Amino acid sequence: MIRQAKGKTPRRPPLKKPSNNQKDPVGVYCRVRPLGTEDEECCIEVISKTTIQLHAPDGLKANRNGEFKETQYSFKKVFGIKTTQRELYEDVAKPLVEDLIHCKNGLLFTYGVTGSGKTHTMTGSPGQGGLLPRSLDMIFNSISPYQAKRYVFKPDDKNGMEVQNQVDALLDRQKRDSQTNVPKTPTTRRIDPEFADMISPEEAFRADGVDEDSSYSVFVSYIEIYNNYIYDLLEETPFDPIKPKPPQSKLLREDQNHNMYVAGCTEVEVKSTEEAFEVFWRGQKKRRIANTQLNRESSRSHSVFIIKLAQAPLDADGDNVLQDKNQVNVSQLCLVDLAGSERTSRTRAEGSRLREAGNINQSLMTLRTCIEVLRENQMCGTNKMVPYRDSKVTHLFKNYFDGEGKVRMVVCVNPKADDYEETLLVMRFAEMTQEVEVARPVDRPICGFAAGRRQRNQVFKEELTRRLEERGGPVNGESTTLSQLLLSFPSLPPCEIGGPNDDITLPRLIEALEKRHKIRQMMVDEYNKTANMLKSMLQEQDGNLVAKENFISEQHGRLGEKDKMIQNQKNEIDRLEKKSKMLEYKIDILQKTSNIHEEDKRTLQHELESREQRLQRELSDKRRMESRMQGIVCDTKLKWEKECERRVNAKQLEMQNKLWVKDEKLKQLKAIVTEGKSENRQPQRPSREKDKVPPKRSASPTPVPTVPPVRPLHRRSHSAGGERWVDHKPTTNVDLDTLMQPNLPNAIKVTAASEKALSKCDKYVLTHQEVASDGEIQTKLIKGEVFKTRGGGQSVQFTDIETLKQESPVSASRKRRSSESGPSHEGERMDGDWTDVETRCSVAVEMRAGSNLGPGYQHHGYPKRKKP
Ligand code: ADP
Ligand code: MG
Repeated sequence: MIRQAKGKTPRRPPLKKPSNNQKDPVGVYCRVRPLGTEDEECCIEVISKTTIQLHAPDGLKANRNGEFKETQYSFKKVFGIKTTQRELYEDVAKPLVEDLIHCKNGLLFTYGVTGSGKTHTMTGSPGQGGLLPRSLDMIFNSISPYQAKRYVFKPDDKNGMEVQNQVDALLDRQKRDSQTNVPKTPTTRRIDPEFADMISPEEAFRADGVDEDSSYSVFVSYIEIYNNYIYDLLEETPFDPIKPKPPQSKLLREDQNHNMYVAGCTEVEVKSTEEAFEVFWRGQKKRRIANTQLNRESSRSHSVFIIKLAQAPLDADGDNVLQDKNQVNVSQLCLVDLAGSERTSRTRAEGSRLREAGNINQSLMTLRTCIEVLRENQMCGTNKMVPYRDSKVTHLFKNYFDGEGKVRMVVCVNPKADDYEETLLVMRFAEMTQEVEVARPVDRPICGFAAGRRQRNQVFKEELTRRLEERGGPVNGESTTLSQLLLSFPSLPPCEIGGPNDDITLPRLIEALEKRHKIRQMMVDEYNKTANMLKSMLQEQDGNLVAKENFISEQHGRLGEKDKMIQNQKNEIDRLEKKSKMLEYKIDILQKTSNIHEEDKRTLQHELESREQRLQRELSDKRRMESRMQGIVCDTKLKWEKECERRVNAKQLEMQNKLWVKDEKLKQLKAIVTEGKSENRQPQRPSREKDKVPPKRSASPTPVPTVPPVRPLHRRSHSAGGERWVDHKPTTNVDLDTLMQPNLPNAIKVTAASEKALSKCDKYVLTHQEVASDGEIQTKLIKGEVFKTRGGGQSVQFTDIETLKQESPVSASRKRRSSESGPSHEGERMDGDWTDVETRCSVAVEMRAGSNLGPGYQHHGYPKRKKP
């Protein structure tokens, strides 16, 4: 607040810096203008309501990798190419105007490269009024019913505001009217078409909560800062067409509240939007002319339009502005269209122009440095000096950054690729600016008067007018009212006295006057009564209003508390939002990890399944194979069993035949033997019935030997240290390399059975070879015991058969079978061969023909099972 407190003994000390410790960051908004032509390369993309993304143009990417990668910048809000001026105003400038009306200062500047839309944003064009005309419009829409008469407020020359008395103000007004040819009614004036229709009426805004018990006045100033010089664009200089005087630069001063102001700067009091904008346009024209005359580029100057709003409370009657300078509040809104932020190299500056460009850069550089230092001070708690004084722009606005008001910045960008590098710098600066915080301005103190004075005064005036009207006659100001009142009295009789004896006129006059006096008395009474009534009515209303005011202030307090609470909760929400973002990010990562694992799991499962299937297949293959093998084994077994049976039967038949032949021979022998005793005995042909005997015997499992061996009368003693063996090996035998040869010490080896040898021994063994069913040579050791017959001969009773068999290792199954039985003490005794029921048939031992064994040497017997 720029507050005036002039005078030797100010009633209130100058306002100190706001004690408010609440801070707001500088509000930085970004506006992206549309491309000039459709086919231009675009390097900016609005990706959300608050974020833009910069893409390095194709040419740049190739040159410097890394530095020009895609970058995002966030702002309080981003306005895309379709944003209307009204939308922008509502978000950016409207709150500042509301603040202005509520006695708070504001600073709004547009920043950006030349051609990025700063002027378009700030000033606009007909039909597309910018922030400036809209701000003016809203101010007047809000305060016009409460505007003070012109010259009631009068700026002093020290950034303060005085209140003039009614007479002085009136005199000033008359002076103005006589000096200028401005018509009295501005609404009927023709408006300059250059700035007509900046804002359509339906787009108008109005501030709420305007204090009706104050009077307002608006003052505008317009300055330009060029090459670090300040020029007053509203200064009235006598125009000299022959030798135009170069404009004089202005100085910056500090007022007694330590606020900066341009000394001697013109402040024009304006009463309407049109008037205000006309003043602005005048300044604009002047600026254009000066730039042309002095060959300057307007893009290199900063223009500052200052709107000052003076407000002072009405007096107790609510009729006039209170004549107290200390009660005057002045708030200001600065609208700054900064110079183009491009670097010197881009401006193609030469000579003196280079210096200018350098200075322009200097002031923007200083702004940058100030922002940097401010940010550093705030973030690191340091107390570095901010170099505001290094340039006029920063110096002029230093109070804002020290907490004198809200600061907002609209960063304008042109998305064209040519501007990319400059835009990048603009973005960096803008981002940094957002980190600077500015103290929140404090609320204006409330003046001591009861609220509602203006309305009461109005009500009173209306009531008075009504009453007077009731009495009839037109009411036209105070003088007419008086004459009307006079007319309502009874008219006076002619008061010319005819002579000393005229005693009619005077008494008549007296009577009329008395009547008048009575009426007057009545009227005075009436008036007093009405006045009293009104007074009491007003007092009552006063009371009501005070109560309401108290209530409102109480509510205000509560609202403040609630605001604080809301702020706290907002902070908490922000924190939680950040946290939730973080968690979301984490979840994302986990999701991804889990997806990978899921994928792994699926592939492994697949593999497992395929393996299982393979296993299953193999198992079923195996089972099939097994069953096939079993089938083959069974078949083979059956085949061999049949074969065995066939062979056994054939053998049996053969043997029986042989046996029969031998029997016959034996009988013949017997006959020969008995012939010696009874010579006439004729040999008998065996009967037909007898012939049939052998097959019968073969059927019997235990054939009885035809000649049962005679029980030995003299059993040879075994005690005499071992038996003697007759080892009968027919010459036909093949000599095999059998390891397991019978070990028979003291044996008598014979090739044919001889009576002589048998008589000397008690044991007999015949080594018999034959070809077995499988084609192998099979050796059988047929053992027997030798007995002496009654006739003095020798008889052998077979007791045992050992079979020795050579096998080729190829016929595996047989070999296995023989090995299964395990080696016995006799080596190759084939126990196993006799285990099967089928094979446990009788075995006929063939006494080879020509073996010279006599009858009774045949034996059909079972081998004894060997005990393990
Ligand atoms: P600056 O002041 O930054 O140098 P200007 O405001 O003069 O730029 O804009 C340059 C040109 O671009 C002007 O012709 C203006 O009308 C146009 N322009 C800028 N911003 C916009 C926008 N948002 N919409 C349409 N035209 C725009
Ligand atoms: Mg411009």
